Amino acid sequence: MFKEGGETEEVGQSKEIQNFEDLRRVRLADEGFIVITDANRPAIIHKVNAKCITMDKFNSKVSINDRKQGSYYWADSVATAAREFGAKRCKACKPELRLVPPSTLDG
Ligand SMILES: [Zn+2]
Repeated sequence: MFKEGGETEEVGQSKEIQNFEDLRRVRLADEGFIVITDANRPAIIHKVNAKCITMDKFNSKVSINDRKQGSYYWADSVATAAREFGAKRCKACKPELRLVPPSTLDG
C-alpha cells in the first residue's frame, strides 16, 4: 500500500495535485486514483496512469486557469474519491471498484 509517515490504511486519504511534480510523483508511485473536479460538471475518478489524464489538460486547468474551473486530486481509493468529491468513475479508463460496496457509487 501507499503509506507515508504515520498514515493509516483505515482512513481515506486524498490530497490536491498542485503541479507537474506532484502529478509525476503520484503516477510513478502507481497507487490510488486521480480525481478531476470541474466547476460545471461532476468530479470524475480516473486511474492514476490513465491515458485520459494528459499534461495538456492538467496544464490548462491547473496552471493557465489557476484552478478556478476545477482541480486535480489524488485519492487512495475509489471510495475515498466518491465520498470526498462525490466523484463518478471515468467511463474511458474504468477505475476499479476494489473494496467498495457497489451501492456506494451508484445513483
Ligand atoms: Zn479516465
